[in-house]
This record gives sequence, structure tokens and C-alpha cells, in this order.
Amino acid sequence: MKAARLHDQGSDFIIEDVPRPQPGPGEVLIRIAGAGVCHSDLHVKRGDVPAIRLPQTLGHENAGWIESFGPGADSRGFEIGDAVAVFGGWGCGRCRFCLGGQEQLCDISLWGGMGPAGGYAEFLVVPSVRVLLPTGGVNPVLAATLTDAALTPYSAVSKTLSRLVPGSSALSIGVGGLGQYGIQFLKLLTPARVIAVDTDPAKRDLALTLGADVAIDPRSDDAEHHIKEITDGKGADAVIDFVGVDSTMALGAGSVGKQGIFVLVGLAGGSVPYSFFGVAQGATLTTSNWGSRNELEEVLALAQRGDLASHVEEFPLTAINEVFDRLERGLIAGRAVLTP
Ligand SMILES: [Zn+2]
Ligand SMILES: [Zn+2]
Repeated sequence: MKAARLHDQGSDFIIEDVPRPQPGPGEVLIRIAGAGVCHSDLHVKRGDVPAIRLPQTLGHENAGWIESFGPGADSRGFEIGDAVAVFGGWGCGRCRFCLGGQEQLCDISLWGGMGPAGGYAEFLVVPSVRVLLPTGGVNPVLAATLTDAALTPYSAVSKTLSRLVPGSSALSIGVGGLGQYGIQFLKLLTPARVIAVDTDPAKRDLALTLGADVAIDPRSDDAEHHIKEITDGKGADAVIDFVGVDSTMALGAGSVGKQGIFVLVGLAGGSVPYSFFGVAQGATLTTSNWGSRNELEEVLALAQRGDLASHVEEFPLTAINEVFDRLERGLIAGRAVLTP
């Protein structure tokens, strides 16, 4: 089969012919319909973060069709040819995080595309049917992006729900591939007033079309003051930072109100001082990394209902290096999906 493999960090992917993988005991072979191109893969490619093992087929945002079941796989409820989204946060399957439904937090992280081979290929082996969810009529190319680009913001928004009562407000920083879904989930799941933040005027316009009530340019001197005004001096009850550089974190932590929550999603490596009087009283600061299998089921339910607007651009797998180049230069408007 065709696979795009990374041999060295800092270099391009190489399209290669490799043996089609055989699913082992309990495993399932998926024919890839689409694999979403995630910023975290760009960090691996560039060498910003260590790669687990090279050469490697990256790609952890996958959907496709069941091609075959390995020996002894529990195929109840599934048939060969079924369209499925792949939950990618694979763990050991038997620790308290895995059994508590938070497999993506397992210490033995075996995420497809970050250890085992991922989906920048024609086929993908997944460890068990437990990581497969029927797409339920959602186009599998679109479903691929839901498994991370939508699941990650969904899980971040889930952490804010108890704060976002009627009359509350939420600040969403960054209107890229994840932030676009974040705004929609805030509007779909909460009664909060949604304030979007982005430096790009086109993205601020997009935020408004996706349902944001206000869109702000963070470079204006009085952004924090402006947010205080919009929130009647209280600050935001929830802030989600999809960027994570020093300046966005400073704006976010400075804008969160008393007993509010600041959720950091962006992996850009920024930091913010944390001290007793440095943040609003009783405010919670937390990170949110990907999401759970059950949250993915909920995201799919919203997509099946037609409630999600997705900005997906399709590219052939052979264009992978061009796509990563465009991603690096900020020229992908929503999410790029590679199709074999
Ligand atoms: Zn990702
Ligand atoms: Zn585990």
C-alpha cells in the first residue's frame, strides 16, 4: 500500500510502497477515507517535539471503512464495509483512566500515528472495535476531522459547562481549525455570550458567521479592558485558549472572572504567571488534551443532526508535503484532509 512516512525530523515525508498491514488478534483493518492534517504533526515533522520512533506513518485523525477483522476480533454490531470514525487516543484498555472512559489519558499512550502507524496511508490497523464509531451517514472524509479538530474543542467546552449559565460569557481565543468548532460548541451547548478573539479580520468575520456574538482583535491596546466592558466588569466565566502563546495566555488569564475557568488547549508552548492575586479569586486553570471516546460519540451526534459547519479542504495523499507547507504558512483556512 501507499504510505507517507517521515524518516527524519526536519525533512519531508516520503511516499512509499509498504506491505499492507495485517490485523492481529482483536485488531481491525480500516481502509482510510481521509486523514486530517493536525498542527501537532507539523510539530513532530519540524522536530519541535520528539518523535517516538522513525521512520513513522503519522496521522491520528482518521475515518474510513472496515476492511477486515483480525482473528478473534469482537465484530458484533459491525460489518465489513461499514463507515467508521476512529477514536485515536489508544491506551492499555485496563487502567482506571481507560476503564473510566478517559483512554486518551492512559500512561501507556499508544496513539495511532504517534507510536503505532497512523492514517497517512491507504490502510490503518486499529487495536480494537472499541475505538470505532459508526459515522451514521456523515461523510467519512468529514468524519476524520471530527475525531480531533472537533473532538478537542468539544472536550474543552465540556469542561466549562457548569460555569456557562444564563447571563454568563465565554471567551474563545483563536479561530483556526479548532477554534471554529469551539465557537459552535459554545453556542450549541450553552446560553453564554461568546466573544471570539483573532488577529486575522477574515477569521473574526468567520467567527461571527459561526455564531460568535462579538469578535475582537487582541492586538488592540484595550482588548482586556474591552472584554471587561462587554462582560459588565465581571470578566469571562470561561476562557478557552486554542493558541497557547504567552500573549494569548496573558489575555485569557487576565480576562477570566471570579470562579471562572481558563482552559488551555493550544500547544504553542506559552506560559503565564500564576499567583494568589494574579488571577481572579477562585478561578481554575486547566489544560485539555484531545477528548474521550464518548465525547467523540457526542460530536458525531451533533454532526449527524447537521448542526456543525465544517471547513474541510481535501488533498491527495501525494500532496502531503505541499499541505504541510501550507499549514506552516497559515494558508489552510479550516482543516486539510488527505485522501489516499
Ligand atoms: Zn491532533
Ligand atoms: Zn490505560
